[in-house]
Amino acid sequence: MDISKLPDNPYILLTPGPLSCSKTVKAKMLTDHCTWDAEYNNIVEDIRTRLVKIAAEKPEDYTATLMQGSGTFSVESVIGSAIPSDGKLLVIANGAYGQRIAQIASCLKISNLLLDCGETGVPDMTEIEQILKTDKAISHMAMVHCETTTGILNPVEEAGKLAATYGKIFILDAMSSFGGIPFTMEQYNASFMISSANKCIQGVPGFGFIIAKRNEMEKCKGQARSLSLDLYGQWNEMEKNHGKWRYTSPTHVVRAFTQALVELETEGGVQARFQRYSKNQKVVSDGMQNLGFKTIIPEEYQSPIITSFLYPEAEFSFESFYKKLKTEGFVIYPGKISAAPTFRIGSIGHVFPEDMERLLKAIEKTRSKALA
Ligand SMILES: *Cc1c(COP(=O)(O)O)cnc(C)c1O
Repeated sequence: MDISKLPDNPYILLTPGPLSCSKTVKAKMLTDHCTWDAEYNNIVEDIRTRLVKIAAEKPEDYTATLMQGSGTFSVESVIGSAIPSDGKLLVIANGAYGQRIAQIASCLKISNLLLDCGETGVPDMTEIEQILKTDKAISHMAMVHCETTTGILNPVEEAGKLAATYGKIFILDAMSSFGGIPFTMEQYNASFMISSANKCIQGVPGFGFIIAKRNEMEKCKGQARSLSLDLYGQWNEMEKNHGKWRYTSPTHVVRAFTQALVELETEGGVQARFQRYSKNQKVVSDGMQNLGFKTIIPEEYQSPIITSFLYPEAEFSFESFYKKLKTEGFVIYPGKISAAPTFRIGSIGHVFPEDMERLLKAIEKTRSKALA
């Protein structure tokens, strides 16, 4: 197929998922597959193997499970399956996605304790240690790596060390960082790590995935509070039947994802992608500050994934700003915090520093008209 004949998207997405995908990734969706066919199941097995290799230093100790739905479905499958009926979950939150983990636990009637560090606060290790020391009922601890609400990068390595010291199972929501920021399961002492197809791997939305320690996955048997989100059930099916999903699998999305994994490798792997995202973020952040915008996260905690900017003046209309930028070919993201009026610009996806330079020109043009 001549990829160049495929139509261009009318704009690029500077959003943290779904995000702009390459044409070659999208073109992979033009083939229909049968779900029990060996050819298709081999594709799934190849994805599982590749994911574990990216995530772990010792791939033989870990296993990957793909789960239908958006990223939250995968988080819910882990929370609902990993914690035994007499377990208790400590959730460390500083944004909407951390809060969501506690919400899931409460909805599933799983005993939980929420440590809310505030929307722009950095989790305090002394405070976490104090809780782990005193609350003996806690069996699991969950945290978000890059809190996409603000773009803050959380100190998960330190938190993982504490979890290991106190014998707690560490669950990591690395939805918006896996594939874009180098780390390993071992480095963070993570037993379960969750991400999805449409974030840093740059696939299209439709499924999430879980990398888990094999021995911890085996303990999930019979613990699920849901049939369709039974993590062990899904894993067991994939293991036993070599890449078979329970229930209909998103075949086109899976095909696109294999291509996305190949493109990640071709780019030079996670390290190279991290460099590109970091460059994208720096171009945007520096350029925006030159235009008078202020960021809200201190530089040392700023992730290369997404950046929050304060409204430049009280009369600023995000809606009109958004609409003008969209006609110029850029879709940005509204803010998600309540403490201050903000908007966000993502730096992940099939976007490059040149795109960010073009964005800045469009913003400068829009602003000079608005302020004139
Ligand atoms: C995107 C994201 C999720 C999942 O969101 P969905 O809308 O369900 O895909 C969870 N956690 C983080 C940190 C995210 O960035």
